[in-house]
Amino acid sequence: MGPYTLYQEKIIECTRWLSLNGFFGSLRGTGGNVSMRVPGEEAFIVTPSTLPYDQLTLEEMCVLDFNKKRIEGKRKPSVESGLHLKVYQCRPDVNAVIHSHQNYASVFAVLNKPIPSLFDEVSLHLGPVIDVIPYALSGSPELTANIGEKLDNGCHGYLLQNHGALTLGSTLEEAWLNVELLEKIAKIYLGALSTGGQPTLLPDDTVNLLKELRKKKLKKA
Ligand SMILES: [Zn+2]
Repeated sequence: MGPYTLYQEKIIECTRWLSLNGFFGSLRGTGGNVSMRVPGEEAFIVTPSTLPYDQLTLEEMCVLDFNKKRIEGKRKPSVESGLHLKVYQCRPDVNAVIHSHQNYASVFAVLNKPIPSLFDEVSLHLGPVIDVIPYALSGSPELTANIGEKLDNGCHGYLLQNHGALTLGSTLEEAWLNVELLEKIAKIYLGALSTGGQPTLLPDDTVNLLKELRKKKLKKA
């Protein structure tokens, strides 16, 4: 067993589950990517480029340093590895990153419409708003720069305009749960808007209380 094996196994389990459950947008495609920070090192482990997730093995996983230099792994890293690196550099509270193409969140990504605070549970985990990161081509330095400009809101969920979603966590389990919570809130917000009614938001004092609780939760992590 190598130094990265446990992390690689966790990422493979998460990636296969997300793919099988449609969070990458197509069941047969290779879109979406998952990474984890290597504790105590300026390095991260990320899924490889264009490999069907049911074929993913430990040897296919890419371990990169913060200059994107390969430490381990025989395949080309995900085209979005720069996006993952940007998050680890800007957000010390984040140890796992998931980039998905999930359907309901993508509705708001193409509407360029942030999702506000609608549920206690979602706001506690993801933050008070799921903001939209402006469009730039997949894998481009412009997209990485656009992401860098939004990360200081401290949230754990974002929409990528006309592309998909970005979900963060202090652990992989947390980022994984956040993918599901993001899809839940997007589905319900869309359903509520489609009735023609005006969805009610959480009261401001609840939002402020959740912000405080979230700060304490992140400090402990
Ligand atoms: Zn993508």
